[in-house]
Amino acid sequence: MAQVLYRKWRSQTFDEVVGQEHVTQTLRNALRDGRTAHAYLFTGPRGTGKTSTARLLAKAVNCLEPDLAKRPDNTCDICVSINNGSLLDLIEIDAASNRGIDEIRDLRDRVHFAPSQARYKVYVIDEVHMLTPEAFNALLKTLEEPPPHVIFVLATTEPHKIPDTVLSRCQRFDFRRIPPYKVAGWLAHILEQEGRSAEPAALEMIARSTEGSMRDAISLTDQLLSYGDAVITEEQVRAVRGTISSIAIAALVDELVAGDASGGLATINQMVAEGIDLRQLALQLVAHLRAVLLCQVNAEQARELLTDLSDEQLAVAQAQAVESSRDATMQALKLFNQASLDIRTATQPQLVLEMAWLDALEPPVETPVAPAAVYAPAAAPADVKISSSMSPAAEPRVKEFASTSNASAPAGGQPLPRPAEPVPDNEVVEVLRANWTTLLQAAETAQGPQLRGALRTLRNVVASGNDIHFAFARDFAKNVVEKPANRQCIEDLIGQLLGRRVHVHCQVGAQVTGVTEQQPAPAVRSAAEKPTEADLEQDPVALHAQHELGAVASKIPPDNKE
Ligand SMILES: [Zn+2]
Repeated sequence: MAQVLYRKWRSQTFDEVVGQEHVTQTLRNALRDGRTAHAYLFTGPRGTGKTSTARLLAKAVNCLEPDLAKRPDNTCDICVSINNGSLLDLIEIDAASNRGIDEIRDLRDRVHFAPSQARYKVYVIDEVHMLTPEAFNALLKTLEEPPPHVIFVLATTEPHKIPDTVLSRCQRFDFRRIPPYKVAGWLAHILEQEGRSAEPAALEMIARSTEGSMRDAISLTDQLLSYGDAVITEEQVRAVRGTISSIAIAALVDELVAGDASGGLATINQMVAEGIDLRQLALQLVAHLRAVLLCQVNAEQARELLTDLSDEQLAVAQAQAVESSRDATMQALKLFNQASLDIRTATQPQLVLEMAWLDALEPPVETPVAPAAVYAPAAAPADVKISSSMSPAAEPRVKEFASTSNASAPAGGQPLPRPAEPVPDNEVVEVLRANWTTLLQAAETAQGPQLRGALRTLRNVVASGNDIHFAFARDFAKNVVEKPANRQCIEDLIGQLLGRRVHVHCQVGAQVTGVTEQQPAPAVRSAAEKPTEADLEQDPVALHAQHELGAVASKIPPDNKE
């Protein structure tokens, strides 16, 4: 039952082999130039597309389509018979089965017969590391003098078990674990085509829990679909798998960065009540904090190192990296890493995690001689510790922004102030700045943390009449804000703040460009106070308008949520 969807959605073209572009591009180039090898070795974790790609290769070398670049076309007689499993010249051998051993034994004799229908006989030997030494010898003899009409594709999860003599005769391709966001994207595509649906967080959770195996992810999806509910939900996946969505983890790290001790404890308790695995939670926290740390060390390099994160996840980590110190991240990493180990043997695993959480909120200890403010286990119930740990971490931030934020204390769920009269153009940026934190919270409440994450990467704003122009650091943020529901939400919120309807326009870059002010307005700040490029580099959520155009210049404080 759970194989139905997988068979149906097996990759039919190279484009459909998700996450292995480094392999498919090389194969396509070789096919286009007529430079195919006689023997290939496909290695990599299970479910990453090895045998699907082998079948694609078999189709492509035999396809009747004259244009090499269009092979396989999936419409010619050869492609069709491979797709329905009837082509005699594609021989698939499972080396792990007894029959496989016999087949290898026969292979040496049969391999010299010409193909019956196609140009090439293609032997796909799956789990090739399972072959006996005798079988490997038989295979090697054939590989040493391969008949011109034969192509071998050896597939394995354990290349180190393949004799060097065999390895040296194969062109090797390493298949990688597929990044979770790519698996989730493909699952969404499949479900759409099947007329079914799932919560995005559910798909991400499926992808994460199947660790880069598309086959396992599709099988799990199939299993969840068989429950018959209209929509696959995050809760269903969690019930089956016990994992946590990266959005929930990011929200928890948001609370850590904001020094929100009680909020974090409540979140952890909520997760426990929902039946998550605590060690899994600790491990996912460690993985996320590692991303934050890498961003703090070198944001450019982080992009290259964190290939399994989606653009959204990376942007969230980058925003958190800016808002916390490297010392604090290091401290949290050590604590949660230790917690992930301690949880295995703890009698009260939840307490281990809560302690790590509270310790992580302590100011980082700069020198080892300073006595660390540690909570003795079982010294007091967790709620007593909250108040003591709350102030040291939270206080500096409150002070820092008290002078720039207006009277509206940025508490969660606070309503936006409504002006008595429409706000004039020259005060728009100032009003946005003063209410930025509240606005972000309202946006998150309405549309979720992704929108908040996107807004946090705002670099510049220009107000021109009823048009508000945003410049974002990255494409992803622009795309998120431009989603119709998100844009509507932002326009409504800003409209509420300004007491008039506005249109939001987005672009990518450090500055808003190409916007002409209709009514040059007097600058609120003097030119001397204009934030420099250096200021802005240090504070990616800094926001200012273009002085040259006479607009209001201002800085919006980073999102802080004490
Ligand atoms: Zn074809």
